[in-house]
Amino acid sequence: MITNLKGLLEAAKNGKYAVGAFNVYNYETIKAVIEAVKETRRPAIIAFGEKYLENMALKEVVNLVRTMSIGLDSDIAIHLDHTKNVDVIKKAIDAGFTSVMFDGSALSFEENMAQTKEVVDYAHKFNVSVEAELGCIQLGDHSNEDEGNEIYTDPLQARTFVLETGVDCLAVSIGTVHGMYKGVPKISVERLKEINQAIQIPFVLHGGSGTPLSTIQACIQEGITKINVNTEVSMTVVAEFSKMIAKNPQAHFSNLSTKATEVAKQTVIKYMDMFSPIQ
Ligand SMILES: [Zn+2]
Repeated sequence: MITNLKGLLEAAKNGKYAVGAFNVYNYETIKAVIEAVKETRRPAIIAFGEKYLENMALKEVVNLVRTMSIGLDSDIAIHLDHTKNVDVIKKAIDAGFTSVMFDGSALSFEENMAQTKEVVDYAHKFNVSVEAELGCIQLGDHSNEDEGNEIYTDPLQARTFVLETGVDCLAVSIGTVHGMYKGVPKISVERLKEINQAIQIPFVLHGGSGTPLSTIQACIQEGITKINVNTEVSMTVVAEFSKMIAKNPQAHFSNLSTKATEVAKQTVIKYMDMFSPIQ
């Protein structure tokens, strides 16, 4: 079933697990996530970022997800990832996205709060959930996101921000990076704990790729309910392409396409398993 983030993340918070948000930008990546949901019977968030508008139109994403997810028992949200442009957010809502992320992390605290509130007021009229970001997440290797100067989320600011804006979930900056880590990850579960004590809301961890399992589990215990994964899915597919083409430079595109779906699906399932409740 297609749903927004609200119910998905509340269930995750109560069940002490996180729902994976996997970035998609073409048929193969969408198919990979849907197939992973089918196989595992776990919910997932299909995440499409503003920067992939060159690859697909908003309506194409919605239509493809809706068509491919017919008959699926598990919940799926169609989420607009990292978007700075409020007009794009409104267009996504009109196109049928069930959830949006407004990224005001580069703005001042006051401006981020004002623009996030504008997005929340608009989105909630259509039963669309809103994620916002407070603090700033650093850029690692192989990422497709923008450069950012790392600023950890301040717990008291987080509390004010959530109460003033009415956001449904909040992306926090606690040391994860967009992309792969350049060295040993330094993630402050302690900071997350302080934020979780200051305000009760589902939290989002950006930069899931390459984050150690023990850290992920500790973060879930402290309120992380949505974890974004992008880079590793792309890297595993491209590595497989390199192998296939090295072996056969005349490889047919149709075979590369089916292999891409299969490899992306395996990476998605690997992360879904990591985000599951501890047995
Ligand atoms: Zn992100």
